[in-house]
Amino acid sequence: MRFVAPSVRARLTLWHAGVLALVVCVFSAGVLLIVRARLYRELDQQIGHDLAAIEKVYREEAGDLGKLALRMGSTRFEVAEGETVLYRTPGWPPSGTTSVRTGTLADASHRVTAARDETALRETLWTLAVIFAMGVPCAVGLAIGGGYFLAGRVLAPVGAIAEAARKITAESLTARLPVQNPRDEFGRLASVMNDTLARLHEAFEELRRFTADASHELRTPLTAMRSVGEVALARSPNEKAYREAIGSMLEEVDRLTRLVENLLTLTRADSGRVPLVREVVDLGGLAASVSESLRVLAEEKEQILEVATAAHVDADCDPAILRQGLVNLLHNAIKYTPTGGAIRVVVRAAPSGGAAIEVTDTGPGIPAMHRDRIFDRFYRIDSGRSRDTGGVGLGLSIARWAVEANGGRIELESEEGKGSTFRIVLSQVP
Ligand code: ADP
Repeated sequence: MRFVAPSVRARLTLWHAGVLALVVCVFSAGVLLIVRARLYRELDQQIGHDLAAIEKVYREEAGDLGKLALRMGSTRFEVAEGETVLYRTPGWPPSGTTSVRTGTLADASHRVTAARDETALRETLWTLAVIFAMGVPCAVGLAIGGGYFLAGRVLAPVGAIAEAARKITAESLTARLPVQNPRDEFGRLASVMNDTLARLHEAFEELRRFTADASHELRTPLTAMRSVGEVALARSPNEKAYREAIGSMLEEVDRLTRLVENLLTLTRADSGRVPLVREVVDLGGLAASVSESLRVLAEEKEQILEVATAAHVDADCDPAILRQGLVNLLHNAIKYTPTGGAIRVVVRAAPSGGAAIEVTDTGPGIPAMHRDRIFDRFYRIDSGRSRDTGGVGLGLSIARWAVEANGGRIELESEEGKGSTFRIVLSQVP
């Protein structure tokens, strides 16, 4: 047979009733024992008084023992000197049917024995025992009923929480669990679960936005490729037109590839699956190598690109990941700085004690209202302008991830119309 665990309500009730039954039983037994001891002590005291009175009469006027017996009523007694019985009340010795308690006073010459009926005492004790025997089940019964009712009332919020939670789906993550009293345990539980729901909702919304933005960005180059293809097909066959069409299609394929690579990087970053291989990296060397790899882009725009290393600065980080972040920052600087501008990459020890790489450009700068958001995924200040330059708004979010994964942060200083400085701050190797 399989044991089915009873509900919390039933368990609470049973525990409550069980403990109460135990307490009441112990209490009743204690009361019975104390009352019994007290009643017998009183009876023994009365027998003691009887014995003293009999002894007195025996010593002063032994012939008056019969009168004394009459006065004493229910107390029966016997006075004996050795084997000779001097006086004995009628019905002595007490027969086995009546329960009596006896007491004896004796010395070498004589012996006085007295007995009192204890039936009344026994009846009192018996009545008390019956009252308890009937009272305990009643008390336990009341405890079960009352306990079940109370447990039901106390646990009612759990039912309400469960009912509300059952209705919550991915589509209704804005719904919240009822909090009847925020200060009690269930209220606190519901509040904690509500906070969790709020975080889940936030994460879901972010995921939804990300998917929607990603789909939108993926569709744009696909649509472009399609129209280029359709136009090329509709025109009369001509090698030059085909070449042009294939050329622009390849451009769109490049764009798609970059986008998919960026999306993959972010998805891996989100799932924490990018293993960090830390080593001591010479930041000056890294900055020089990144600048060299992008120099051709700057030269195309006739920009001045210079690298300055104030001192030899090492940092403890993953060079490949940090490089990706720096490439994105420098690429942006080249992309958004107009032809003939200047870009400077400076490596220095940061005033806070860490190491810093600064990328400063003479571009359009970033308006204050956008500064908090440009690191968000798919966020672009001017999407029309970005489309021409090839960005979809993922570069800075990848750069931020790359720097933060290495335990650093990105700071931004910018003045509209004059240029921007993106500063990577890392902890320096001691
Ligand atoms: P994108 O792929 O569009 O470049 P990013 O995430 O790299 O996306 O940048 C987000 C937005 O921040 C860009 O659309 C651009 O408007 C702005 N931005 C980034 N770097 C610079 C910069 N050096 N100067 C001016 N604007 C910049």
